[in-house]
Amino acid sequence: MKKQASTSIWILGDQLLETHPALTYSHALAAPDATCVVLIESDSRFARHPYHKKKVVLLKSAMQHYAERLRQQGYSVDYRRAPNMAAGLRGHVSDYQPDRIVAMEASEYAGRKWQRERMKALLGVSVEIIPNTQFLVGTFDPYPQSQPDRHYLMEHFYRKMRRHFDVLMDGEQPVGGVWNYDKQNRRPYPRNAVAPARARFTPDTRTTNIIEAVKTSDAFGQIEEFALAVTHEQAAAALQDFIAQRLARFGDYEDAMAARDGQLYHSFLSPYLNIGLLEPMQVIRAAEAAYAAGVAPINAVEGLIRQVLGWREFIYWQYWRQMPGILNANAWNASQALPEFFWTGESAMNCMRHILRRVRQDGYVHHIERLMVLANFSTLAGLHPISVNNWFLSTFVDAYEWVMIPNVLGMGLNADGGKIATKPYIASAHYIKRMSDYCANCPFDYAKRTGNDACPFNFLYWNFLIEHEERLRANPRFGPAVLGLRNIDPDERKRIKQQALDFLHQLGMDSKNEQ
Ligand code: SF4
Repeated sequence: MKKQASTSIWILGDQLLETHPALTYSHALAAPDATCVVLIESDSRFARHPYHKKKVVLLKSAMQHYAERLRQQGYSVDYRRAPNMAAGLRGHVSDYQPDRIVAMEASEYAGRKWQRERMKALLGVSVEIIPNTQFLVGTFDPYPQSQPDRHYLMEHFYRKMRRHFDVLMDGEQPVGGVWNYDKQNRRPYPRNAVAPARARFTPDTRTTNIIEAVKTSDAFGQIEEFALAVTHEQAAAALQDFIAQRLARFGDYEDAMAARDGQLYHSFLSPYLNIGLLEPMQVIRAAEAAYAAGVAPINAVEGLIRQVLGWREFIYWQYWRQMPGILNANAWNASQALPEFFWTGESAMNCMRHILRRVRQDGYVHHIERLMVLANFSTLAGLHPISVNNWFLSTFVDAYEWVMIPNVLGMGLNADGGKIATKPYIASAHYIKRMSDYCANCPFDYAKRTGNDACPFNFLYWNFLIEHEERLRANPRFGPAVLGLRNIDPDERKRIKQQALDFLHQLGMDSKNEQ
């Protein structure tokens, strides 16, 4: 059956905005009942990486609920499954014969390039690509004249964003007189603390059907206990639940890790922010209101706002600044293949085992476990940056290229030569011991540098320092750490290097890379 629709709006699966700019734009062209919205479940997109089952269900269910919402608003919706996006759009054009297609810019480089350079010729209709509004830097660029090789500090970027969007500001000054409360936000998790669990949402029939289909697939991870938000209303409820239950303590324990609890006081809102079920300013204003109402202290509210208005926007800005060159970044010449236990979670290291099993179960661990355990291990073990990036992209429910490339290659692995982070985020077991309870029940000894039960984070850390001593010494932010090498005599250096080599060999790691 052929319908006539002069304008079609193509909405991507990670652009499920409540007020989508392409729909607003189309209102000037035609009434909703003369506008067709097309959403495409692309098989090749879902097959690009071995995605976590919960991520597949989240995306498909959120897309299908979004389509239903638009139908209820009076739109004609063409929801189709296709081998790839191009085939889906061609099928849509053939069936609906629109005069033009309007779409919002993809947040990922290859998708946007395809929209701009190939879509019109492929489809043979007029194509209009409008600016992406999912990120605040889409409307305000703090550094419009940015230099390719200059280093930009997130802290300066963040202050410009605070000023421009008037967030936590008292005139020209930050509310409370201080821009950054990081120093207050590094407390270990108390032994008997119990953080309130996050909001859980019972799957409806539509979601249950998708779960059943995904259950039998060979995708990564566990699908049991799927309880993610899949609509705007549920995502808004998750936000309110976080504000009411956990925001007040979020700052204090932002960097803490605990074997018994992966969530702690974290928000778990990134899966929803990254597909448009929540918008950044919605989260920021809700946190500001909580501060104004006395629900949460300034260190917690500023800490959260730093994550959303600071890091998230900075990362997206860096992605567009560094693409596509960053894809080949490998400043530390890392070449090891990803070890199998990243997928299975089977490791004698207590911290890695807990965290990797949580990744299998939930497709999520919080940012310190990502940065200071998973990425730290990857840097110290010399894992190839793209293989680490692809693993994160596959296994995390909130992972998309724009967030993972700069976070993993730049922040986590320092593979971009320091354009995002001024130093490699590496640490020995002492950091993990201080910020978690993992070491207490581990067969390895966090205090030993070498020996049968020495913690791998220790000999890998010192081996990394030995291998890169000269270069690290020249880094003003890392130089002092290298001074510790003066206390290690040549024999111990040899033992450290040999133990690191044996450990990597036992893991079955060789020099193949997985580009
Ligand atoms: Fe992790 Fe080492 Fe601590 Fe074990 S001793 S939990 S491997 S940091």
